[in-house]
Amino acid sequence: MKLRLRLVLSALVLALVSAPAFGQTAELAKYVFLFIGDGMSMAQVSAAEVYAKAMADKAPGFVKLGFSQFPAQGMTTTYDSTSIITDSASAGTAIATGNKTASGVINMDPGKTNKYKTIAEYAKELGWKVGVVSNVSLDHATPATFYAKVPSRGDMYDIAVQMTKSGFDYFGGGGFAQPKGKKGDQPDVIELAKKAGYSFINDAASFRALKPKAGLKVLAVNSVLQDSMAMPYEIDRASDDLALADYVSKGIELLNNPKGFFMMVESGKIDWACHANDAAASIGDTLAFDRAIAKAVEFQKKYPKDTLIIVTGDHETGGMSIGFAGTGYSTAFEKVSMQKGSYVAFNAEIMNPYKDGRTAADANIKDLLPEIKRYFGLDYDKLPASDQELLQRSLLRSLKGEVERAPQESVALLYGGYEPFTVTLTHLANQAAGIGWTTYSHTGVPVVTFALGRSQSLFNGYYDNTALFNKMAAAMGVKLPAVASK
Ligand SMILES: [Zn+2]
Repeated sequence: MKLRLRLVLSALVLALVSAPAFGQTAELAKYVFLFIGDGMSMAQVSAAEVYAKAMADKAPGFVKLGFSQFPAQGMTTTYDSTSIITDSASAGTAIATGNKTASGVINMDPGKTNKYKTIAEYAKELGWKVGVVSNVSLDHATPATFYAKVPSRGDMYDIAVQMTKSGFDYFGGGGFAQPKGKKGDQPDVIELAKKAGYSFINDAASFRALKPKAGLKVLAVNSVLQDSMAMPYEIDRASDDLALADYVSKGIELLNNPKGFFMMVESGKIDWACHANDAAASIGDTLAFDRAIAKAVEFQKKYPKDTLIIVTGDHETGGMSIGFAGTGYSTAFEKVSMQKGSYVAFNAEIMNPYKDGRTAADANIKDLLPEIKRYFGLDYDKLPASDQELLQRSLLRSLKGEVERAPQESVALLYGGYEPFTVTLTHLANQAAGIGWTTYSHTGVPVVTFALGRSQSLFNGYYDNTALFNKMAAAMGVKLPAVASK
């Protein structure tokens, strides 16, 4: 009898702590936010935290971001069906659908025949509203994995056309890389979106004035676009221009309804900054990502029983490290603040005009010393001779246009296909702060997943990125078809 009672009690306890079963509506989340930091693993998060501490005082330490203090935390493997090192298409497919696929493929199997249904589409079937936000172009791999199914992430026009047919309620952030197709001879996707019933917003004032209305579907493209139809890096953003956080706030305003909503928000340029080995741009965007997530946290405080916020990365980029061979056990992250703009802004403002009409024979590093100092805080005359030589050599290569991408080429190893002079400057500036890089590509290290709110404990532990889909489905009460179809 005693034993039996104990068994019943332990079964009860188990039932209380276990994941919500399907149909237990009281346990389900109905406002679900999924934040994806593209290229964001622990190094990117930690770099932002160490930077924040270095700016506050000199003692070593971390100023925790808001999301890194979420109560549930997990580690997530990111490999895809072709490689330990995933790309954003296969990683997004894993998160959005629970399926491994090949690099470059969006929501289809590696053989490119079967299509997978996404968590956002399941949310729509629940009668929820759905939003997709990204600060890179809306036809880019990560946002696409929530609404499109294509054999290649390069099919950006097909992706955009599928977006207009998604029936989702809110798209916001960057523009379109191929708005009229690869050759520019297809119908404009903005017009297709309007025909499909979307209100198209393209300026900050109209965006701020947007109010929820029955049946309203919104496509909001930021009026300021920087590189590849993406919103500017946070360190380049004018203070009165819209930030990623504004797109989250507006999304909450437009999507909030008694049935529920799902919103995916990508910070896509943490990845781009890390590809280019630009720590200042990465840190700026990671801090801005935290401010965007804070908008969801404010909402969660109002609806704690109904809201679930998940923050994860799709993979690590750059092989970023806190610590560099040349600086040993010391760091000086406050030096990151000396960089005044991203590598993209430096190219646009300084390098491109300098290169214009100049040959390598006309190049002289002395022409650029004031700009190097102003932009990166680097005092050329105080640099070791070896670093001065690196800069001189890279400037010549920039003028000669030597930016090959093939990894076997030593030039590509040195500069990764980026502007040689600029990437040398970010390397020297990062190294002075004690930040190292090992690649211009992604790496295979796991990412970190953070969760807050209803069913948060599902996201504790060490699991694969495909499990994120199942965990979200369980938290949302999505009834998945039998596994046989896989
Ligand atoms: Zn990438």
